Amino acid sequence: MIIVLRSDVTEEQIKHIVEKTQQLGLKANISRGVERTVIGLIGPEDVLRVTPLEIFSGVEQVIPVLAPYKLVSREFQEENSIIKITNKVKVGGKKLVVMAGPCSIESLKGLRRIAKKTKKAGATVLRGGAFKPRTSPYDFQGMGEEGLKILKQVGEEMDLATVTEIMDPRQLELTCQYTDILQVGARNMQNFTLLKEIGKTKKPVLLKRGISATIKEWLMSAEYILANGNFDVMLCERGIRTFETETRNTLDINAVAVVKEKSHLPIIIDPSHGTGVWNYVAGGAKAGVAAGCDGLMIEVHDNPEEAFSDGQQSLVPEKFSKMMVDLKKIATAVSRDI
Ligand code: PEP
Ligand code: MN
Repeated sequence: MIIVLRSDVTEEQIKHIVEKTQQLGLKANISRGVERTVIGLIGPEDVLRVTPLEIFSGVEQVIPVLAPYKLVSREFQEENSIIKITNKVKVGGKKLVVMAGPCSIESLKGLRRIAKKTKKAGATVLRGGAFKPRTSPYDFQGMGEEGLKILKQVGEEMDLATVTEIMDPRQLELTCQYTDILQVGARNMQNFTLLKEIGKTKKPVLLKRGISATIKEWLMSAEYILANGNFDVMLCERGIRTFETETRNTLDINAVAVVKEKSHLPIIIDPSHGTGVWNYVAGGAKAGVAAGCDGLMIEVHDNPEEAFSDGQQSLVPEKFSKMMVDLKKIATAVSRDI
């Protein structure tokens, strides 16, 4: 940690800061430059969460040198994590994972129809929400346990792994019985109670980036899950809120390179929520693969007009299949398989 002092800092203020940090068990090294004086701190920096140094007179900026997350960082683990979902599906290796399916589980027959087509096109994970985080309490909230049963049944019939969203720790035991991957949605990225409870399970987790979360905050949320014992976490970039109104969100492709540098965890791109417009989904998916993501999450519906949620951003199966053909070429170009 480096403390940059104000240009008008007094000797008395410097002395006070140094004494305070020494009391906290940190070693302070003062470096007096021509324009600025900085203090380098060495020692257990955790104490600074309780006593933030920004509040001391004379301090202009506190720059952390070590990342605040540890277990998710590349420093902690140099090689990429490979997460085993089932015997057949692994995430983080050469082969990209494609998770596809409707936004919401709507019926057994409907999910079966869609799953058949996504599987044929190359998807290996079936997605579908049973507990839906809707902006309006009057919108469809999901089928609940009945939906989870449908997801499990279709997953087994089609030999597809499954992923579904969990919103509340009270749904955890139930949801774990029915799915291979627990999805934490964007709105719950900082639901720390949920993250801690999920961390105590052994289920692989897909942690979506919060609507306005920085990459650091997102990695800190992943840290909660790892710190509680569950290392099987995949990160999912699903677009962030910006000033742009042409799209629902702005898909942050930069996140792939940043996450790959800072963390060993796999990163999945969700261009469906990232764009909010079906016609822009393939472009986002291609960009994600070219950037080096480890997989995609795509909303697919065979009758988007009648979809219970997110029809506007759902691909019809034919468009999904065509996109998969294009993605193969890009995957090959970046030495990956899909
Ligand atoms: C979803 O996957 O349908 C969903 C609600 O995603 P997000 O949390 O990214 O909005
Ligand atoms: Mn959706």
